[in-house]
Amino acid sequence: MSIDRVVKPAEYWDAFVAGAGPAGSTVARLLATKGLSVLLADRAVFPRDKVCGCCINGAAVDALDRTGLGGLLDDLGAHRLERLDLRGFSRRANISLPSGYAVSRRVFDAALVREAEQAGAVFRPGTVARLDREQNDGWHVELMPATDTAASTIHARVVLAADGLDGGFLRDHPRFNPISEPDSKVGLGLTIVVPQAELGVGEIRMTVGPHGYVGLVRLEDGLVDVAAAIDRKLLEDATPEVVIRSILEREGSLPDFKVVWGIRGTPALTRQRDVRGGRRLFLLGDAAGYVEPFTGEGIAWGLNSALRVAPLAEAASVSWSDSHLIEWERFLGREIEKRQTACRVARGVLARPWLAALTIRIIARAPVLARPVVAGLNRPIPERL
Ligand SMILES: Cc1cc2nc3c(=O)[nH]c(=O)nc-3n(C[C@H](O)[C@H](O)[C@H](O)COP(=O)(O)OP(=O)(O)OC[C@H]3O[C@@H](n4cnc5c(N)ncnc54)[C@H](O)[C@@H]3O)c2cc1C
Repeated sequence: MSIDRVVKPAEYWDAFVAGAGPAGSTVARLLATKGLSVLLADRAVFPRDKVCGCCINGAAVDALDRTGLGGLLDDLGAHRLERLDLRGFSRRANISLPSGYAVSRRVFDAALVREAEQAGAVFRPGTVARLDREQNDGWHVELMPATDTAASTIHARVVLAADGLDGGFLRDHPRFNPISEPDSKVGLGLTIVVPQAELGVGEIRMTVGPHGYVGLVRLEDGLVDVAAAIDRKLLEDATPEVVIRSILEREGSLPDFKVVWGIRGTPALTRQRDVRGGRRLFLLGDAAGYVEPFTGEGIAWGLNSALRVAPLAEAASVSWSDSHLIEWERFLGREIEKRQTACRVARGVLARPWLAALTIRIIARAPVLARPVVAGLNRPIPERL
């Protein structure tokens, strides 16, 4: 904490949640529903955009159902996903999708925050949070409103770090430093206007090139989301927009487009943390580790993690037992990391253009071969081990 800041008197909360993405706002809502006093803070002001393919797969839809928000996506006007148009190395494969929706993160994340507030959680937008020091019965957290010079310190009996890929909430605790994997791609995102005839509703167009891939999907408001994962070295010689256009152009996937929301980037996408919690502290969602987005599962991992961590955090807010952390690590290992394996395989294939080309060629000839993989990615994630 900087010494020139005025520290306001502490507030006391049962639970503090850093980050109001799908993981954070869902666990905040679940804990508030159980009667805990919950403070949820996000450095962004909502609604906010986020670099994302905006596809909510079947495992995420199932998790929403189980949190009692089964009708949310239809209420938000999200489009049901019907097919994947996979293009690359001069080949095209059409794969039908069993489930899933497309919705902008601006609308989806704001709706989840609203649900958390309705359940009783208090939301502080525009507030940067930093984990301070551990107390016997909880943690001190420093909160810094973007518009204020005064930081305040609150006390929480249990803390949930859901601050995404590069949040910095844990920056003063080196044992939680994330480890980026070598050659990890970086993410890019923008929103564009594309004529209806060029990209249908309910279609994901995924274009693969030798050094990255770009996904396009039409959103609930008619705009088109563009999300890309590319080798960082491409950005040494070209702007992000040129890189995205060249990947699309190569495969004839470039619709005639106009940019509405400019390019944003992410740090290295594939990263892990060796430690995913501590006394009265749980890391979840991207903050607990992420593998690049080809299979479009990050939201499912975040929502399912929120479902699983909520009862552990509720118990931990009363009294701490190391078994809470053991159970949490076991869930992450057995369910989330297991699901990340498919994504790691995809990452390995995409890193070898000859293998990526061969795979797309095979799928283009026999799309039925992709069916079990697609079904597996959409399969619900069990809550209990
Ligand atoms: C290019 C790309 C495409 C993707 N496509 C898909 C897809 O189609 N489908 C899918 O399921 N997943 C996709 N993902 C992954 C998905 O975006 C993430 O997995 C998901 O957003 C993780 O949710 P989260 O709640 O853990 O974190 P986030 O959604 O990242 O939310 C973290 C929040 O924490 C806030 N925050 C950060 N630091 C602080 C701080 N110190 N204090 C307070 N607040 C803080 C941020 O402002 C943010 O709102 C994609 C990712 C990328 C990069």
